[in-house]
Amino acid sequence: MSEAKLKPCPFCGSADVCVVSFGYGVRCRDCEMAFSGTAPGGAEKWNRRADPPVLECHVCGCKRVLVYELGGLPVIECTACNRSWDRHA
Ligand SMILES: [Zn+2]
Ligand SMILES: [Zn+2]
Repeated sequence: MSEAKLKPCPFCGSADVCVVSFGYGVRCRDCEMAFSGTAPGGAEKWNRRADPPVLECHVCGCKRVLVYELGGLPVIECTACNRSWDRHA
């Protein structure tokens, strides 16, 4: 079974990313980034994400933050603490 090709990890540039959690999430094997989607199609969401500006998580202060579209709205999600918020929050 072949998986859709995933974009490389935005944080370390590694192409060694894989789909996890039955399609809900994406994980980087190099830097341990874990992106958890809330629905199947995590890989698709991963590939639709905007190229990340350097954003800081306002919860944990790290820079492992992804921006992606959800229902046409940009959503920002921290892959370290799994918080997500929208741009206006
Ligand atoms: Zn990585
Ligand atoms: Zn965080």
